[in-house]
Amino acid sequence: MDIRSFYPEELIQIVREMGGRDFQGRQLFRWLHQKQTADYQDMTDLPKTMRSQLEREYPLGDLSPVDVQVSAMDGTRKFLFALSDGQMVESVWMRYRHGDSVCISSQAGCRMGCAFCASTMGGLVRGLTAGEMLGQVYAVGKAVGRPVSHVVVMGSGEPLDNYEQLLRTIRILSHEQGMHMSQRNMTVSTCGIVPRIYDLAAEKLQITLALSLHGATDAKRQELMPIARKYPLREVIEACDHYFEKTGRRITYEYSLIKGVNDTDADMKDLARLLRGRNCHVNLIPVNPVKERDFRQSDKKVVASSKNKLEKYGINVTIRREMGRDIDGACGQLRRRHQERQCEETASGGKGMEREKWR
Ligand code: SAH
Repeated sequence: MDIRSFYPEELIQIVREMGGRDFQGRQLFRWLHQKQTADYQDMTDLPKTMRSQLEREYPLGDLSPVDVQVSAMDGTRKFLFALSDGQMVESVWMRYRHGDSVCISSQAGCRMGCAFCASTMGGLVRGLTAGEMLGQVYAVGKAVGRPVSHVVVMGSGEPLDNYEQLLRTIRILSHEQGMHMSQRNMTVSTCGIVPRIYDLAAEKLQITLALSLHGATDAKRQELMPIARKYPLREVIEACDHYFEKTGRRITYEYSLIKGVNDTDADMKDLARLLRGRNCHVNLIPVNPVKERDFRQSDKKVVASSKNKLEKYGINVTIRREMGRDIDGACGQLRRRHQERQCEETASGGKGMEREKWR
């Protein structure tokens, strides 16, 4: 693993093996995660020999932005980062009244196969290490020159399909010797991998869980999300109820509105019936059109009336502001554009792509 992925105890172990002392392991953690240093030579309170050995055994560097797009509408910035093996991932920086938020990717590609999503089109390449997820937050913070107060794991990939590295990311982000970000300022979005939701509930974290619903009946959800064939809605909602009971954190249900597909009166009735009586929150997202798909956004009027209908049923609803619409908003689109360009250049397709078997 890369050096940024390790917990302090593990760094202490690494430093010990290099003949160092425990406090130097803690210093190393602070250099990496509090000061976010990308060069061992800056770690001036560590012995020179140790710095050189670290450099040899655990090469360190910032993620390098290959492309940055800035929204003329709201200042949202989208970054395309190259990882050390050449894989590319996207991160998005958004400025809200309550602080600056970075949306990070958890995998290069994705194997979940949701019909409306650009990230999944080439399948999964690999999960990111915690260091690569943290690296996105640090690199974006550095680029914008402002503190990052919120992190949402809603970029490319399925975070619960990269569970161990996700946990490391959350724990290191909130570590008091690191950024010390409140877990209440973190959100993890999942398509609904039920056993992992139970695992997450047992971790005693304070993060918000966002569940991608997009359909309020099994039939409708299965049309859009292959994972729904594996876990019926009843099981998904039960798992979310359990998460709420264990953590006291209200679930956010994400519902992307697609014209004529899941935005009718009957759909809203089904959605209300499914969630009624629950202490939860629905986030309606006008679907972001993806070039390769013909899904269209629900009309503005329909979006507004969907919200009203759900509210009449006593459900707490917000409409997601469309940040950075003018800059290839939907996750995965910037990466795909670059891949296409590369494919054209090398005249070869993607390599090592993986697809989930339930497709
Ligand atoms: N794999 C995770 C997180 C990634 S995407 C998940 O499924 O939740 C974050 C959210 O954006 C999910 O709710 C996802 O379904 C949604 N999404 C993906 N593509 C979209 C698009 N083109 N328009 C609107 N929402 C989209």
